[in-house]
Amino acid sequence: MSHSDHHIERNSLAAKVEKEVEVKAQKCYQCGKCSAGCPVAEDMDFPPSMVLRMLQTELPANDEKILKSHSIWLCVTCEMCLSRCPMEIDIPSMMDFLRQKSRSEGKENPKAKNIIAFHKSFLKSIKNTGRLYELGLILDYKRQSLNMTQDMALGPKMLSRGKLHIFPEKIKDRAHIAKIFKKTSK
Ligand code: SF4
Ligand code: SF4
Repeated sequence: MSHSDHHIERNSLAAKVEKEVEVKAQKCYQCGKCSAGCPVAEDMDFPPSMVLRMLQTELPANDEKILKSHSIWLCVTCEMCLSRCPMEIDIPSMMDFLRQKSRSEGKENPKAKNIIAFHKSFLKSIKNTGRLYELGLILDYKRQSLNMTQDMALGPKMLSRGKLHIFPEKIKDRAHIAKIFKKTSK
């Protein structure tokens, strides 16, 4: 083996996960505790332990399946898997990275359309005002998901209970937020 063989750069999704969010898929020994505790595993096409197994293979076909999966969009970042994992594998951060990667490569699962619409509206609200502006978020989400009538009756009720603000409150240091978005959208 030549000296340069030791430095071949891995180009797999697992290598990217390792580099970007410092999660080592190879540490997983498939005990299945994460999947057993995950509240949405039943609805996932691949439960979290399976996503890790697929990453471990470092096969382009499996990487593709992960980025096109519904699972990565169903994860609600509850951290149950992380609290159960004997190897302390940070699955929520990994899922977050996989969602961003899936979006940047245009591989979003079509079943995740509404979740992605919510995700976009949420980020837009934070980007514009520095904090979550609930009414703007709901309206923008409805516009993006074309789901205009669902939960219509809830809005006036929430407004009257002071749970929704008609106008957005802005934080003072919006330049800081702009910097974060600039950095993360690279
Ligand atoms: S963080 Fe995601 S993958 Fe982990 S248990 Fe919660 S929903 Fe499941
Ligand atoms: S709990 Fe941790 S070690 Fe066990 S399967 Fe899940 S990620 Fe792998």
